[in-house]
Amino acid sequence: MNNGNSDLWISRPLPESFLSYASYDIKLISSLLPKLQHQLRRHDLKAESKRYLELNQRSRSNRGSKYHSHGFLPQEIVGSKVRAGATKLCPGCNRRLHQASFYTYFHLWDGSSFTKKLCFTCFRVHSSDRPTRR
Ligand SMILES: [Zn+2]
Repeated sequence: MNNGNSDLWISRPLPESFLSYASYDIKLISSLLPKLQHQLRRHDLKAESKRYLELNQRSRSNRGSKYHSHGFLPQEIVGSKVRAGATKLCPGCNRRLHQASFYTYFHLWDGSSFTKKLCFTCFRVHSSDRPTRR
Protein backbone atom coordinates (compact mmCIF):
# COMPACT_ATOMS: atom_id res chain seq x y z
CA MET A 1 0.00 0.00 0.00
CA ASN A 2 1.33 3.42 -0.93
CA ASN A 3 0.87 5.43 2.26
CA GLY A 4 2.85 8.41 0.98
CA ASN A 5 0.25 9.27 -1.66
CA SER A 6 -2.49 11.14 0.18
CA ASP A 7 -4.66 11.35 -2.96
CA LEU A 8 -5.38 7.63 -2.57
CA TRP A 9 -6.98 8.35 0.81
CA ILE A 10 -9.30 11.03 -0.59
CA SER A 11 -11.24 8.76 -2.92
CA ARG A 12 -14.57 7.40 -1.68
CA PRO A 13 -15.59 4.80 -0.95
CA LEU A 14 -12.27 3.64 0.46
CA PRO A 15 -11.13 0.22 -0.77
CA GLU A 16 -11.47 -2.61 1.74
CA SER A 17 -7.68 -2.92 2.05
CA PHE A 18 -7.50 0.76 3.16
CA LEU A 19 -10.20 0.28 5.77
CA SER A 20 -8.38 -2.75 7.10
CA TYR A 21 -5.08 -0.86 7.22
CA ALA A 22 -6.64 2.11 9.03
CA SER A 23 -8.45 -0.06 11.56
CA TYR A 24 -5.18 -1.78 12.45
CA ASP A 25 -3.65 1.66 13.21
CA ILE A 26 -6.54 2.47 15.51
CA LYS A 27 -6.09 -0.86 17.29
CA LEU A 28 -2.41 -0.05 17.91
CA ILE A 29 -3.11 3.52 19.00
CA SER A 30 -5.82 2.45 21.42
CA SER A 31 -3.38 0.09 23.14
CA LEU A 32 -1.04 3.07 23.74
CA LEU A 33 -3.77 5.19 25.30
CA PRO A 34 -3.47 3.92 28.91
CA LYS A 35 0.32 4.51 28.89
CA LEU A 36 -0.03 8.01 27.44
CA GLN A 37 -2.77 8.91 29.91
CA HIS A 38 -0.58 7.77 32.79
CA GLN A 39 2.32 9.95 31.58
CA LEU A 40 0.09 12.96 31.06
CA ARG A 41 -1.37 12.65 34.56
CA ARG A 42 2.13 12.83 36.04
CA HIS A 43 2.62 16.32 34.64
CA ASP A 44 0.25 19.22 34.52
CA LEU A 45 1.36 20.12 31.00
CA LYS A 46 -0.96 23.10 30.69
CA ALA A 47 0.34 24.68 33.90
CA GLU A 48 3.96 23.91 32.99
CA SER A 49 3.55 25.41 29.52
CA LYS A 50 1.96 28.54 30.98
CA ARG A 51 4.77 28.83 33.53
CA TYR A 52 7.40 28.36 30.80
CA LEU A 53 5.89 31.23 28.78
CA GLU A 54 5.73 33.49 31.84
CA LEU A 55 9.35 32.80 32.74
CA ASN A 56 10.60 33.36 29.20
CA GLN A 57 8.62 36.53 28.58
CA ARG A 58 10.13 38.12 31.68
CA SER A 59 13.66 37.32 30.61
CA ARG A 60 13.69 38.62 27.05
CA SER A 61 15.60 41.80 27.85
CA ASN A 62 18.79 39.92 28.77
CA ARG A 63 19.25 37.54 25.85
CA GLY A 64 22.94 38.37 25.50
CA SER A 65 23.59 37.26 29.07
CA LYS A 66 25.42 34.00 29.74
CA TYR A 67 22.52 33.14 32.08
CA HIS A 68 20.18 32.98 29.09
CA SER A 69 22.36 31.37 26.43
CA HIS A 70 23.30 28.15 28.22
CA GLY A 71 22.27 24.59 27.42
CA PHE A 72 20.50 23.91 30.72
CA LEU A 73 16.74 23.85 31.10
CA PRO A 74 15.54 26.89 33.02
CA GLN A 75 14.48 26.45 36.63
CA GLU A 76 10.92 25.30 37.37
CA ILE A 77 10.04 24.07 33.89
CA VAL A 78 10.04 20.33 33.44
CA GLY A 79 8.84 17.99 36.17
CA SER A 80 8.14 20.76 38.61
CA LYS A 81 4.95 21.92 40.17
CA VAL A 82 4.06 25.55 40.47
CA ARG A 83 4.46 25.96 44.19
CA ALA A 84 2.73 28.32 46.52
CA GLY A 85 4.86 30.52 48.74
CA ALA A 86 7.45 33.22 48.57
CA THR A 87 9.32 33.93 45.37
CA LYS A 88 12.58 35.72 44.66
CA LEU A 89 13.99 37.40 41.60
CA CYS A 90 17.12 35.71 40.28
CA PRO A 91 19.72 38.35 39.34
CA GLY A 92 21.16 36.03 36.70
CA CYS A 93 18.17 34.99 34.57
CA ASN A 94 15.83 37.73 35.83
CA ARG A 95 13.11 35.18 36.57
CA ARG A 96 10.89 35.30 39.61
CA LEU A 97 11.19 31.80 41.05
CA HIS A 98 10.09 29.96 44.17
CA GLN A 99 12.61 30.40 46.96
CA ALA A 100 13.26 26.65 46.94
CA SER A 101 14.93 27.17 43.55
CA PHE A 102 17.84 29.02 45.14
CA TYR A 103 20.88 28.07 47.15
CA THR A 104 20.37 29.66 50.52
CA TYR A 105 23.91 30.76 51.23
CA PHE A 106 25.45 31.29 47.82
CA HIS A 107 26.41 34.87 47.05
CA LEU A 108 27.78 36.02 43.71
CA TRP A 109 30.78 38.31 43.83
CA ASP A 110 30.00 41.00 41.26
CA GLY A 111 32.91 43.24 42.17
CA SER A 112 30.97 45.32 44.65
CA SER A 113 28.81 43.13 46.85
CA PHE A 114 27.96 39.62 47.95
CA THR A 115 24.26 40.32 48.00
CA LYS A 116 23.23 38.76 44.69
CA LYS A 117 21.88 35.24 44.89
CA LEU A 118 21.44 32.98 41.89
CA CYS A 119 18.91 30.23 41.14
CA PHE A 120 20.22 26.65 40.79
CA THR A 121 20.44 26.95 37.00
CA CYS A 122 22.33 30.26 37.06
CA PHE A 123 24.57 28.95 39.85
CA ARG A 124 25.50 26.03 37.58
CA VAL A 125 26.23 28.42 34.70
CA HIS A 126 28.28 30.66 37.01
CA SER A 127 30.17 27.66 38.45
CA SER A 128 31.07 26.30 35.00
CA ASP A 129 32.69 29.65 34.16
CA ARG A 130 34.94 29.68 37.20
CA PRO A 131 38.54 28.60 36.72
CA THR A 132 39.43 25.43 38.62
CA ARG A 133 41.67 25.80 41.65
CA ARG A 134 45.00 24.02 41.77
ZN1 LIG B 1 18.53 32.31 37.52
